[in-house]
Amino acid sequence: MPNKIPEYKIFAIKYATRDARRADHFIGGDPHDGPMPMDYFTWVLVGPDRVFLVDTGFTEKVGTRRKRTFLRCPIDSLRLLDIDPDAVTDVVLTHLHYDHVGNFDKLPHARFHLQEKELAFATGRHIRYPYFAHGFEEEDIVGIVRLNFRQRLDLYDGDVELAPGLTLHFAPGHTAGLQVARVNTQRGQVVLASDSSHYYENIEANRPFIAVVDIAATLDAFRTVERLASSRRHIIPGHDPLVMRRYPAAAATLKDVVARLDVEPVA
Ligand SMILES: [Zn+2]
Repeated sequence: MPNKIPEYKIFAIKYATRDARRADHFIGGDPHDGPMPMDYFTWVLVGPDRVFLVDTGFTEKVGTRRKRTFLRCPIDSLRLLDIDPDAVTDVVLTHLHYDHVGNFDKLPHARFHLQEKELAFATGRHIRYPYFAHGFEEEDIVGIVRLNFRQRLDLYDGDVELAPGLTLHFAPGHTAGLQVARVNTQRGQVVLASDSSHYYENIEANRPFIAVVDIAATLDAFRTVERLASSRRHIIPGHDPLVMRRYPAAAATLKDVVARLDVEPVA
C-alpha cells in the first residue's frame, strides 16, 4: 500500500481591497456596468509536515501609491495562523505582478518557486511598453533577480511536483509565465487559480480579464484549471470578493480576514 497523499489546509488572507466597476475587469468592457470591487489575497498551505505560502501581496507603500485600500500586511498576518514569517521556508510565486510578489524581502529564510518564463518576460524586451510594465514593480523584479544570484530562487520550465499533494502548473495568458497551484485537501483537489481567473465570472463565462499578454492562452488556461480541479467548486479565483462569502472564516475572530478553503463552500 502506498502512503496516503498528504492533505493540506488552505487559508486565504485578504490583505487589501479596492472599488471598481464591471467594465474594468473584462476585455471589451461590460454592457451591464455596475460596481465590482476587487479583493487582494495571499494563500497559506498547511500540511502535516510543511507550510507553503502562495504569493506575498503588496506593501502598504506600493498599495497606497496605486490607490488600493491596504488592510493589513499579508506577511505579519501569518501570525494570525500562528506562523512565524521567519520560519517560512517555501513560497510559490504565481507570477510577478506587484500584488503577488511585494514583501518577498520580509521572508528571509524562504526559497521562492517561480516559472522561468515569468522572470524572462519581466526582464525582457516587452517591459519597455507601459501596458506590460504597469503590472510590475521595478524594485520587486530587481529583488527577485538578486534572489537568483543568492540561490534562493527555484525556476521551473513547466509543471512540477513541489511536494506530495502539491503541484504547480503552467497556465500563462494573463502573464507570460503564470502558474497555478493544485493542492490535495480533505475535499479533493483544490486549484488556486490566482490570476489565471481573477473572478469566478472570468472562467465561468470565458471572458478574460482586461490585463493580458495572450488572449488565446488565457482561454486555454481556463481549461487547464478546470481539468486540474476536482470540480468547479474546487477552483479559487485570484481576486473575487465572493471567496470570503463562500468560505467560512478560519476562526470566529477572523471573519472577512482569513477564510478556510479546504472545506466545502457554503453556497
Ligand atoms: Zn493579481
